[in-house]
Amino acid sequence: MAVIEVAGLVKTYGETRAVDGVSFEVQEGEIFGIVGPNGAGKTTIVESVEGLRQPDAGAISVLGLDPIRDRYEITERLGAQLQESRLQDKIRVNEALELYASFYRHPADWRDLLDRLGLEGKETARYADLSGGQKQRLAVALALVGSPEVAILDELTTGLDPQARRDTWDTIEDIKRAGVTVVLVTHFMEEADRLCDRIMVIDHGRVAAIDTPAGLIGRIGSKQRLRFRPSNPLDDGLLSRLPDVSAVTHEGPQTIVTGTGNVVHSVTALLAQQHVIAQDLRIEQASLEDAYLALTGDALVETGSENR
Ligand code: ADP
Repeated sequence: MAVIEVAGLVKTYGETRAVDGVSFEVQEGEIFGIVGPNGAGKTTIVESVEGLRQPDAGAISVLGLDPIRDRYEITERLGAQLQESRLQDKIRVNEALELYASFYRHPADWRDLLDRLGLEGKETARYADLSGGQKQRLAVALALVGSPEVAILDELTTGLDPQARRDTWDTIEDIKRAGVTVVLVTHFMEEADRLCDRIMVIDHGRVAAIDTPAGLIGRIGSKQRLRFRPSNPLDDGLLSRLPDVSAVTHEGPQTIVTGTGNVVHSVTALLAQQHVIAQDLRIEQASLEDAYLALTGDALVETGSENR
């Protein structure tokens, strides 16, 4: 069952066609990723779904409701992550959570959420005194405090250190296991690959692709690359005559063999037959990042800083 249905969404700001005919569905219980370069239209799309922006054209249905007309009902059932600047510096963590819990008919136990998000002991800390990562996790807690059926998380782990990022991923998987449908806007392909059931790639206000991570990677072909230092000299001709090999090149002492299908098996079998050991062997395959770059032509911006 689709919990979010978007058809033909269009939004223009003056001359800018920020969203130009976007259609997609998010199925119940999935983690649906939205990725794309800066300015691609991701925020406009999710804020239209949340009822915060009025589209110029198109239809949006969230849990069978209209985000603008049924704003109150939707607020009760859809949890959206706040941008951090929307909280007062002086508010304490417990005050913010109590306040947000009071908006909902069936709030979650926020103490439990704090534990799950690694914020235990921070109940009485003021918002301004939290680190960037703690503010981020508080934003997630606030998005979940209403026990929503759908959670929309935007740039969830930007600014977190690698450990905090992995902890946050575990939390998202917990949320999914609890039956919540998650829409995740992210810059990080590793995050999208690890968490998302399906990913929508947005570029210049349009849908470039919607597919599973493996499906997106499969679109750019199944090329594989072996990189190794042969223990004894090896005739390139033997390698390039193997059926699955498309190219043999060298970088310093390294031999690089590119191919498809069973190339890894063919090359290692040949090496064994020739009594050559492949030292420092590495096998490289296309990643989600390669697929993303091929679809958008955009260089990914990996900031990882606390102050983005
Ligand atoms: P993303 O979230 O992918 O970075 P946005 O949805 O924020 O993309 O923006 C898409 C385009 O619309 C950009 O060109 C942006 O400058 C423009 N835009 C977004 N919001 C506004 C606004 N409130 N007023 C004018 N232009 C906007």
